Amino acid sequence: MASVTLDGVGKTYPNGTEAVADVSLAIADGELLVLVGPSGCGKSTLLRMIAGLETVTSGTLKIGDGVVNTLSPQARNVAMVFQDYALYPHMTVRRNLELPLRMRKMPADEMERRVRSVADLLGLGELLDRLPKQLSGGQRQRVAMGRALVREPAVFLLDEPLSNLDAKLRVQVRAEIAELQQRTKTTMIYVTHDQVEAMTLGDRVAVMDRGRLQQVAPPAELYEHPASAFVAGFIGNPPMNLLPARLRLDGERIVVTIADQRLTLPAEGVAAKVARDGAGDQEITTGIRPEALHLVSDDEAGAALHATVEHVEWLGHETLAYVAIGTGKDAVRLVARLPGMRSLTKDDRVNLTFDPASLHLFAPDGRAISSEGTAPPLVTPRQ
Ligand code: ADP
Repeated sequence: MASVTLDGVGKTYPNGTEAVADVSLAIADGELLVLVGPSGCGKSTLLRMIAGLETVTSGTLKIGDGVVNTLSPQARNVAMVFQDYALYPHMTVRRNLELPLRMRKMPADEMERRVRSVADLLGLGELLDRLPKQLSGGQRQRVAMGRALVREPAVFLLDEPLSNLDAKLRVQVRAEIAELQQRTKTTMIYVTHDQVEAMTLGDRVAVMDRGRLQQVAPPAELYEHPASAFVAGFIGNPPMNLLPARLRLDGERIVVTIADQRLTLPAEGVAAKVARDGAGDQEITTGIRPEALHLVSDDEAGAALHATVEHVEWLGHETLAYVAIGTGKDAVRLVARLPGMRSLTKDDRVNLTFDPASLHLFAPDGRAISSEGTAPPLVTPRQ
């Protein structure tokens, strides 16, 4: 097993596309790091560079202590599982598992030991004599992982390994992968575009956008302290509401102006700092998590936003209310996540309030403003 260290790693394809730019990241031995971002942000390119399937055009890539920039994939001792985990259809599970070892001309007894150990680890013992077509999607996925693990790689790379599974199976196999990683303590780098998968799986999550790392941190920190508006708008389901607002200090309180409305709140958190130093005199990108919004009655509406319901989703344990504040071209749209089943319908008028300490604020370049005045560090080292 090994650590993986990227120092200023970049990839420009021959056609001039800069797919990955200046990525510096240290993945500890035995860590599960999830790389997440929207389609086209460069995740697969980064993973394929680590695997040795794409050349690195700038920077240094290390596995353990050795620079591997120019090493062949075989010489790197990494194993990769792809989304279309093609098994050989005419070979039994056992033969599929043995294949990478036969290609290395491994002695039969060692091969048998490894296949048995991986079959035990992944619960494939009963399936060894079956053909892939006699397996369920989840079982096939496990065989594909087994075929990678049987090589006992130093680093295990997974590229969207669950995308061919249905939603229920995805949750189950996701839990199996997390458990497998904890048991084997294999260094794993897991690529996905799905932020829920990233948040539930990773020790740390690296968020990418347009080829660059936006933030690398444990899931809770990404949620509580997103380093940029991009991360704030990507993490969370539904993600954070981002809207323009003005913030002005009025004695001991702050006046928040959103669309055509003004509400006066206690001066707390980063909002108080921004109001105090005048950065909120202009419109500033303001983030409010859907779960930070609360419905209040007309009696308490003094410190609330007055919104019109545009669309409602009932999810059983909660209700998502999509609302508009203001009218016409100045209207801003928000989603509020309300506990339980709420009997709301389109065009209802509602009062929404929030704790000023839960506001997030972002500078014009997208970086988060914190109470200390500086954006959180981009990369939080593993604890
Ligand atoms: P992701 O995995 O996040 O969807 P990719 O790493 O596949 O993103 O792609 C990143 C960017 O590089 C995209 O703009 C994509 O079109 C481009 N790209 C990927 N592969 C190639 C290639 N072989 N040649 C040129 N451009 C490529």
